[in-house]
Amino acid sequence: MSESRGVKPGPEPADRVVIGITFGNSNSSIAFTVDDKAEVIANEDGDRQIPTVLSYVDGDEYYGAQAKAFLVRNPNNTVAYFRDFLGKDFKSIDPTHCHAAAHPQDTAGTVCFSVKDKGSEDEPSSVSVSEASTRFLRRLVTSASEYLGKTVTSAVVSVPTNFNDRQREALIKAANDAGLEVLQLISDPVAAALAYDARPEAGVEDKIVVVADLGGTRSDVAVVASRGGMYTILATAHDYEFSGVHLDQVLMDHFAKEFIKKHSSDPRSNPKSLAKLRQEAEATKKALSLGSNAQFSVESLADGFDFSSTINRIRYEMVGRKVFEGFNRLVEGVIKKAGLDVLDVNEVIMCGGTSHTPRIANNFRGIFPESTRILAPATSTTAINPSELQARGAALQASLIQEYEAADIEQSTHPCVTTVKHIANAIGVVAVGPNGEDVFTPIMQAETAAPARRIVHIAAPTPGGDVFIKVVEGGTHIKVTKPEPKAKDATENGDEDSDFDSDEDEEEKREKVWKIGTQLAEAAVKGVKKGGKVEVMVNVAADLSVTITAREVGGKGGVRGNLAA
Ligand code: ATP
Repeated sequence: MSESRGVKPGPEPADRVVIGITFGNSNSSIAFTVDDKAEVIANEDGDRQIPTVLSYVDGDEYYGAQAKAFLVRNPNNTVAYFRDFLGKDFKSIDPTHCHAAAHPQDTAGTVCFSVKDKGSEDEPSSVSVSEASTRFLRRLVTSASEYLGKTVTSAVVSVPTNFNDRQREALIKAANDAGLEVLQLISDPVAAALAYDARPEAGVEDKIVVVADLGGTRSDVAVVASRGGMYTILATAHDYEFSGVHLDQVLMDHFAKEFIKKHSSDPRSNPKSLAKLRQEAEATKKALSLGSNAQFSVESLADGFDFSSTINRIRYEMVGRKVFEGFNRLVEGVIKKAGLDVLDVNEVIMCGGTSHTPRIANNFRGIFPESTRILAPATSTTAINPSELQARGAALQASLIQEYEAADIEQSTHPCVTTVKHIANAIGVVAVGPNGEDVFTPIMQAETAAPARRIVHIAAPTPGGDVFIKVVEGGTHIKVTKPEPKAKDATENGDEDSDFDSDEDEEEKREKVWKIGTQLAEAAVKGVKKGGKVEVMVNVAADLSVTITAREVGGKGGVRGNLAA
């Protein structure tokens, strides 16, 4: 589940005060647990999504929303969008998002920002990405400590699945330098899944979950197999072309065109007007997630002209169509990459700020079958705030592991232990169906991590007697049923060329059906009572050897067999 750990010796387990942190490229959040429930902490400005931005004015350091506001008046001393540069060489970064903030600079191959952090009259300092991260994390830890009334010592931090070892080490070092012990780095989609699965009403369920993390500068999608509370990432996709800033851009262009029509001047051509346009476009975009209309209003947008306009959600969804379609393709692509079909997906967890957008959730609703739960504010009344999921998951994980010694945490998260074996195919029982056909009942889903044990109860034939059971491997395939062509009823329509007898509107039916594979074992349970049931238990050991036991429920004895790995 987790991938790395702090390098410095931390406090004694009993002395730890732990939180969960998500340190995003656009926003960060901090969370803690109380009575096994995770809560996101509001900082001193009242923000739970804290912009990952630092700004320096007259030697004072601002962070979060206050710093972000300085992107208009003080962009050169404002450091934003730096998280993704951690642990990277200058030549491998994409500085696009920093064009309206302090520019990343090449300092002997590493990434630095030149900002006047001591005073406006002083020479600028060169602040490395690592130092900027340390300063920002220190502010988060201070906020959390003030909120909790005690000094935070340790944290679980969530990171994207494509963070490499160097990026992980750089993050841990930046946190350590801020006086924070990193108990564990947990991957973003697992943190999000944990936040949902830790709810008291959530039972342990074998399921395939798609976690769509749609953020400000990137979109990350993962297909996760959740088997008995263990998470395995089956496939991931990362995209930098379709995300929140691209929706901001769509609105910026829309309102810029209106402004040009009125005043024959383009507010995008002047950096200050552009920054104002960007801030208001983001606010309008967020308002459109809640209401069907939103205001766009900026004082002195450009050339001294105030500008005010409105947009409705339908228009916004039209101008943003390409970006919305991009999210659909990303999700469909990663499911394919995992070798699965939308019909295999039990749950879609939408996280990240952009997941508040109703159109995206509604589009996903259209892609997946009815049976798939789409967990987003627009499609589910029980959805958790998508912006809070990862911090909550990280906090829950922190509270789970805080009592362990650092060395034990390292051992339990060492690759040998976390990369456990999985069964490739589902295991199930074949029994005889009502029409004499073989019916497959899955006991253990494919991708279940070993060791694992599952039990099913199978009804014996009504009169009782001997029950024969075949334990087999199973696979799935998608059965497509084309709609029956409608017979043309010329007499009723009175018009053979009528447009209405086309069957265009009827969609083909796609369903997941089991395919019975290799037989693993066969057993007979003799003399089952009338109306009785047979219990089949499948036990897969860590080396993937299988033990199968079949017995009558409530009866004595039974049959047991072993299969080598
Ligand atoms: P990244 O790392 O991709 O830059 P992040 O994980 O740091 O992103 P998030 O808070 O998940 O940041 O996402 C930020 C994006 O979400 C921003 O583009 C923001 O405008 C957008 N956003 C936040 N709230 C809403 C909302 N209610 N409706 C639509 N978009 C929103």
